[in-house]
Amino acid sequence: MHRIHARPAQPASPPAIDRDPAVVSSFLSDAALVPGGFGAGVATPRTEAEVAALVASADRVLPIGAQSSLTGGATPRGDVVLSTRALNAMDAPAGYAVRAGAGVPLATLQRALAAHGLYYPPVPTYDGAFVGGTIATNAAGAATFKYGSTRSWVEALTVVLANGDVLDLHRGSVTASADGWFEVVFTSGQTARVPVPSYRMPDVAKLSAGYFACPDMDLVDLFVGSEGTLGVVVDAVLRLVARPRVLVALVTCAGDAQAIAVTGALRASAMARRDGSAGLDVSAIEYMDDRALRVVPDDAFARANVERPAQGSALLLVQLEIGADEGADMECLQGLLRSERIARDPVVAAPGDDRGAERLFGLREAIPASVNARVAAAKAAVHPAIEKTAADPVVPFPRLAESIALYRVAFERRGLDYAIWGHASDGNLHPNLIPRSLEDVERGREAVLEIARGVIAMGGAPLAEHGVGRSPLKQRLLRELYGADGLEQMRAVKRALDPAGKLAPGVLFPA
Ligand SMILES: Cc1cc2nc3c(=O)[nH]c(=O)nc-3n(C[C@H](O)[C@H](O)[C@H](O)COP(=O)(O)OP(=O)(O)OC[C@H]3O[C@@H](n4cnc5c(N)ncnc54)[C@H](O)[C@@H]3O)c2cc1C
Repeated sequence: MHRIHARPAQPASPPAIDRDPAVVSSFLSDAALVPGGFGAGVATPRTEAEVAALVASADRVLPIGAQSSLTGGATPRGDVVLSTRALNAMDAPAGYAVRAGAGVPLATLQRALAAHGLYYPPVPTYDGAFVGGTIATNAAGAATFKYGSTRSWVEALTVVLANGDVLDLHRGSVTASADGWFEVVFTSGQTARVPVPSYRMPDVAKLSAGYFACPDMDLVDLFVGSEGTLGVVVDAVLRLVARPRVLVALVTCAGDAQAIAVTGALRASAMARRDGSAGLDVSAIEYMDDRALRVVPDDAFARANVERPAQGSALLLVQLEIGADEGADMECLQGLLRSERIARDPVVAAPGDDRGAERLFGLREAIPASVNARVAAAKAAVHPAIEKTAADPVVPFPRLAESIALYRVAFERRGLDYAIWGHASDGNLHPNLIPRSLEDVERGREAVLEIARGVIAMGGAPLAEHGVGRSPLKQRLLRELYGADGLEQMRAVKRALDPAGKLAPGVLFPA
């Protein structure tokens, strides 16, 4: 079935739009720290009906979640900001599924699920992000290696379209026609033919690069990762798993080569385990390079209760899911580290030691926080146009070493300071510029473009998990990935569902 009928929302008045500059000013930036945000006002609908009434009556609307976007996608440019934070209802889980409002922060979701022994796996490293925001960006996280990105965990969606109609989408019920179309019948009786783009998406562990497209695709998947441009997610039914017992180990490596070898060995062990042989149930391997560690202040190491490693080292934060025989898993890990010639014992947070695990992940999180603080300091002291300049590339895992070399050359030959960290188990790292001047930012953008071209040539993608947003640089990377024709096919999808360009205008491609 490739046709779906939209339904009307309950009649409601639009929620008030708060135009008080003091209120609006707290919504003018997201985590990308892009300057120059401005908004027409902020509305906080409490129900689907209010979302529909607001969207139907506004000229341009930017739905936002927690504004943790790293792409400027949640930075308003004259839009009415639709804050989803009051869409925060959550049902009790039913089996291995839960219905949650778009405005539920993932940390709140996980706490509620933990009380039922359940867990929602595809959580980005920043767990303050909202359910709706993570669906809109197809967020991925550390544990993508085991669980994949958000997409495959979304079972159903309620979406308000640009004209205020509502779609109830259930995975498996609406799939593209054999000749590549969906049909959406609006309550007005008009039908939109939505073409499925014909570009081929790269075969990588995660991708947040415009509209999902493949033959026979599910209509749910068109909305996951559409970054607010096709509809406002009001709520979702998410798949869950039984809460795993997790062990976290911080492994000190002598440098990049050893870190890559250990990551490869851990991945191989996990694959063997998945095939029924002995091995470790690895869910995540996070990498922190020497440069990233140097940016982190001493007190972050002290809080984590971890000694700062010697210069030149790299750290791996390994997350293992532990079965009944914890001792056997620990022995297997130690054996693997010995055979990779790791000199120091890992720092371990055992299953149940949630605070210990939080401390270790806190060290990992201190890296983006410290780099962002450096960006903010340069912006305040050197030039207001300085902004976060970072890449989000993903490569097929066998190309990881080559990709790190590419990132280093791209920055170093331009004389730039930078740091690299991220999700090594997925081949997805975050090379970030540490800017000292506005010229650094300009050269940093050139480096990001060089990185994009390099990873595309390796069969990877320059837009792994953060999306495209309103960043001109990331929009350029999207064009590098799919070409002008691919972008035109995305625009055709947008025109079919939002002909007036009302929703998140300027996100993914210029309005
Ligand atoms: C420290 C840090 C670590 C991070 N780590 C990761 C990581 O590991 N993996 C990862 O994938 N990302 C990561 N991110 C990026 C960010 O957290 C994700 O992109 C997240 O999914 C954004 O969620 P949000 O609720 O903040 O959405 P926002 O930033 O508010 O919005 C993001 C986009 O989604 C759209 N949107 C938001 N809500 C809705 C809705 N209900 N309906 C339709 N469209 C909507 C917006 O219009 C915007 O285009 C990180 C960010 C930070 C600051």
